[in-house]
Parts: sequence; C-alpha cells; structure tokens
Amino acid sequence: MSAQKDLTIAEFLGDGISAELSAAVHRVAAALPIDVDFEAVDLSLERRQRDAEGAYREAEAAIRARGVALKYPTITADESPNKVLRDRLDFAVIHRPVATIPGVPTRFQGEVDLHIVRIAVGGTYEDAGRRIGREAAVSVRVIERRPSFQAAQFAFALATRLGCGVTSSSKYTIQRATDGLFEEVVSEVAAEHAGIPHQRELFDALLAKLIMRPEAYRVVVTPNEYGDFLSDAACGLIGSMGLGASASYSFDAAGSVQLAMFDPAGGTAPDIAGQGVCNPAAALWALAMLLEHSGHRGLGRALDQGVRDAIGSGHATRDLGGSLGTEAFTKAAISAMHARLTGKVPNR
Ligand code: ATP
Repeated sequence: MSAQKDLTIAEFLGDGISAELSAAVHRVAAALPIDVDFEAVDLSLERRQRDAEGAYREAEAAIRARGVALKYPTITADESPNKVLRDRLDFAVIHRPVATIPGVPTRFQGEVDLHIVRIAVGGTYEDAGRRIGREAAVSVRVIERRPSFQAAQFAFALATRLGCGVTSSSKYTIQRATDGLFEEVVSEVAAEHAGIPHQRELFDALLAKLIMRPEAYRVVVTPNEYGDFLSDAACGLIGSMGLGASASYSFDAAGSVQLAMFDPAGGTAPDIAGQGVCNPAAALWALAMLLEHSGHRGLGRALDQGVRDAIGSGHATRDLGGSLGTEAFTKAAISAMHARLTGKVPNR
C-alpha cells in the first residue's frame, strides 16, 4: 500500500514552456515539508488534436478526484482549453491577486496589494448580441444572481481572512438592471458579514482612485469584464503583465468551493521554450495559491514571499533583465522560502 500523501495535485500539462514550469513546480514541491504528489494530464495541442475528448475527460476526472489542479499555458487552436475547462467544471469565480514585486521597475511609486475577485461568466464576454442591418447592433449583457452571489461570498470570506474590507465595483448608475442586480446581491452578502466594511465604487472612479491611492483597496469584487480590465490595469501599475497567477473556482449547492484550478498568467512563450530560461515565478505563485487554498497557509505564504524575496534581492531571469536560468532562479526561490519558514526572515 502506498503512503498517504499530504496533498495530491492534478497537473494539466500544456505547450511551450509548460514542461519547464512543471519541472520548477516539482522542484519546489520536493523542498516543502509536506508530501506532495502530482497526477499529470496531457493537455498539449498534440494530444488534443489526437483525442480532445479523452484529454478533457481525463482532466475533469483528475480535478474532481483531487479537488485542486495546476494548469500550465496551452495553445488555443480550434478551441480554448481554458473555456472548455470553465464550461465543463462550472468555474464561476476568478481570483487574481496583484501585488507589488520588489525589484521590478515600475513607472509608479505606490504599493499595490490587490485581490481582484470577478464573476467568471456572463457580462459582455458572453454577449448574445446581433447586428440590426448594416448600421446598428444590439448587445445582450447577462448578469446572474448565482455567480454574483458566489463571487461576493468568496470576496467576503477572503476579506475576513485578510482582515480588510470589500469594495464592489461596476457601473450601477448606468447599467441599472445588470450591474444593479450584481450590486444588490453583493449588498445582501455584505449584510451577512456585519464586521467587514463594504463600499461601492463606480468602476471609472475606481481606476482613477487606484492610481492615486492604491493602498486604499485590497479586495475588489466585480462582474466579468470589469475584473479583467482591472487586472490588466493593476498589472500595469506593478510593471508586469505576465508575472502573476490566478485561480478559478466552482462551488457546491451550499456555496462552498468544490473545485479550484490555479494557473500562471502569461502564455506558452514558444520563442524561448526548451531553452531553460523561462521565468517560473508565476507558476510558483500559482502553487503558493494552491497551498493556501488547501489549508497549508503558512507554506503558501512562505513560497509567495520567498519568490518575491528572490526577485527583490536581484535574482532575475532574462525577462527581468537578469541572466539566471529557470533552474537557478527556482533554487534561489527555494532558499528564500526556507529562510521564511525557518524564521530567518519573518513570514508575514
Ligand atoms: P501565447 O500564444 O501562448 O499567448 P505568445 O508568445 O503570443 O504565446 P506569451 O507566451 O505571453 O505570448 O509571450 C509573450 C512574450 O513574453 C514572449 O517574448 C515570451 O518569451 C515572454 N514570456 C512569456 N512568458 C514568459 C516566462 N514565463 N518567462 C520569460 N518570458 C516569458
């Protein structure tokens, strides 16, 4: 009989730098003080072209068995694997942390430590609109109560954990029916969390205020498209589009998270694939989020901070102006994580 593992992760392998990111993740997992195992599923384009249904069925079975998955970048050809997985697994909420990375140059002085929680479905991104003749078109923007509720619940639970308030943001004075429903649901959830301050902010004002006073915002919950815009705007503030991770969640009937998939921002980077030079930071942050979600909060924090410490102390891959390869950076991140875990550096 095999020994019980502390954590088993479904691992969705993709294309390009996917294999190198996976190798970095395995190296870090082996350095953790818990037993981590992986159940790999091949979602590469080659496999999907041969047997797409088999690949997705395997991925679905693996995440349903394990509860958590790490997904690496995949090529979108005929279909977007992210959309297929979202539909099959009923992902309703996306959580995207964006925080200042010490040592990464920015045009902006402030400290960003933002958690963007967005509805993963509907909004203008699933627009069932149509053209009306040559001169006009109409848009159909759908906001639903259930994913609004799940996003709000997730945001308030996160704020409770972080000891901060929640800002909900949309254009509720203009899109009165749709964003009005979203804000109504958020207010209902806010009423059940009396200890957590809740404020509403019009989305255009939020963008301006975030640039002027980023420290005033921590957890922000939005409909689908606003969360996407906000994520990119926040990434611009911290000086990097590709350095970050996000999580997608599905929920059971009682509103608890059922499945969680974590993936690094950024694409398959075909220009550098196979050279051992890609930056694994975002993949390691995805693992850190997975650890926190799986109840290993201290380890997740130590890994998250360790990667920041490594970059902040000048350990840089080529994309950040340095000369380290993927493996050398990963080793630096592991040392920094251990320094956090052993108390040499406080693990806040
Ligand atoms: P895709 O179609 O998968 O999005 P792409 O090349 O269009 O691929 P990215 O993969 O995001 O888009 O790559 C954009 C640029 O950023 C490329 O020059 C790539 O090498 C670089 N890049 C992306 N991810 C990383 C990474 N993890 N480390 C280093 N450079 C990266």
